Amino acid sequence: MCVKPAPANHGITFRRIDLEGAPEIPALGNYVTDTSRGTTIEINGVRVSTIEHIMSALWTLGVDNAQIDIDAPETPIMDGSAKEYAAEIERVGVVEQEAEREYYTVTEEVSFSIPEKGVEVRLLPADKYDVDVAVDYNSKVLGKQQSHFAEGDNYRSEIAPCRTFVFLHEIMFLFNANLIKGGDVDNAIVVVEHPVTDEEVARLSALFNKKDIKVSGGYLNNLKLRFENEIARHKLLDILGDLALLGRRIRGKVVATRPGHFANTELVKKILAQ
Ligand SMILES: [Zn+2]
Repeated sequence: MCVKPAPANHGITFRRIDLEGAPEIPALGNYVTDTSRGTTIEINGVRVSTIEHIMSALWTLGVDNAQIDIDAPETPIMDGSAKEYAAEIERVGVVEQEAEREYYTVTEEVSFSIPEKGVEVRLLPADKYDVDVAVDYNSKVLGKQQSHFAEGDNYRSEIAPCRTFVFLHEIMFLFNANLIKGGDVDNAIVVVEHPVTDEEVARLSALFNKKDIKVSGGYLNNLKLRFENEIARHKLLDILGDLALLGRRIRGKVVATRPGHFANTELVKKILAQ
């Protein structure tokens, strides 16, 4: 994947350079077709998946226009965060262009919710872009977590390094059936909500090819937490990327409860339809 400069008013687009004619897909909510594992955009059967992390880093670090050339249907997952993207964007720098930025100014509340799942994403009038995230998965390990981001906060060090999570009990059957390897979850925090047997730990050690795999404080020690509320921060990273699919910067406050790619992009579609 290669992120290239683009002229003013181009917006952010993905180009599938491995396909004939290098078809281009604008990174806008109207093109979102799937949100099951990450956010996927698609035109005429040509798709790019898991665009949210690179979108989050580009948009939050001030990039409005870019052409992203990619030779695969999915962006590189790397360590599961936007850490490398943010570092690279800061290293090469951002150039100011000759055009006025267009804003979406929130004048009255707009929201999307899935009440039975406790999911709600609200957008409220405010002078500055500001995002509050709260998550509660009824987990003893995770508890209730919150995170916050406002314009001017240090995205690169506070949000970009945060990774997603998976519950061990949701993937244990894959481990037990040898359908998943340790390397497959190197980019996710593994939450151990229910007790595991010594035999299961031994099996996990073998799969991770590490002698010292154990459960520590409710987490598998395949990796170390970067923040106590890393999961809420990752949800923030994701929502910053998904809301960038509006194609305009938001002047308003986001209050998100248990957000996910579906709710985030449905809200974007709702605003675009207005
Ligand atoms: Zn994510």
